[in-house]
Amino acid sequence: MANLSRSDRRTAPSQGDFQYCPRCRTELALGVHGGRERLGCPKCGFVHWRNPVPVVGAIVERAGRVVLVHGVGRPPHWYGLVAGFLETAETPEECALREVKEELGLDATTGGFIGIYPFERLNQIIFIYHVLLSAGEITLAADELDDYKEMPIERIKPWPQGTGPGLRDWLATRGFHPQFADFGTPQD
Ligand SMILES: [Zn+2]
Repeated sequence: MANLSRSDRRTAPSQGDFQYCPRCRTELALGVHGGRERLGCPKCGFVHWRNPVPVVGAIVERAGRVVLVHGVGRPPHWYGLVAGFLETAETPEECALREVKEELGLDATTGGFIGIYPFERLNQIIFIYHVLLSAGEITLAADELDDYKEMPIERIKPWPQGTGPGLRDWLATRGFHPQFADFGTPQD
């Protein structure tokens, strides 16, 4: 509990939090639970721990290029990694390969584990893998994605938040050290 000031800032309730108890519908109240101020239910004892949500991102490589995808409804210049939420009983590595199959319509094999990156703005913890994409034509998951590009590794510029630091670290293993791209808005 030595770093309570930082912890308090991180756990402060925000717009996306519960207002009512998901168990008994009583209005939640701030209190100290597990050494930090959090929302809890005064009636049934439910605590909104607000632990980070695990997310997996895949650096999808094929023939010296990385596949970057564009999400439906995103600003036009926001291309990112294939990524998604971990399912119950799934390992992060399995999740990376499943997301590639779902989003790009092709099988992939694991290239390596890159690292784990906290993403405070969305309260996520992101596992990044490098995967190798099979041959064949990419078919996007039309409900999620509306475009993709296969970027030569030497032209990729990572972004400062979310999956970006993992991409930066992978690029460094290939001998590339580009500056973060400044999109002017948070990336996830
Ligand atoms: Zn309750």
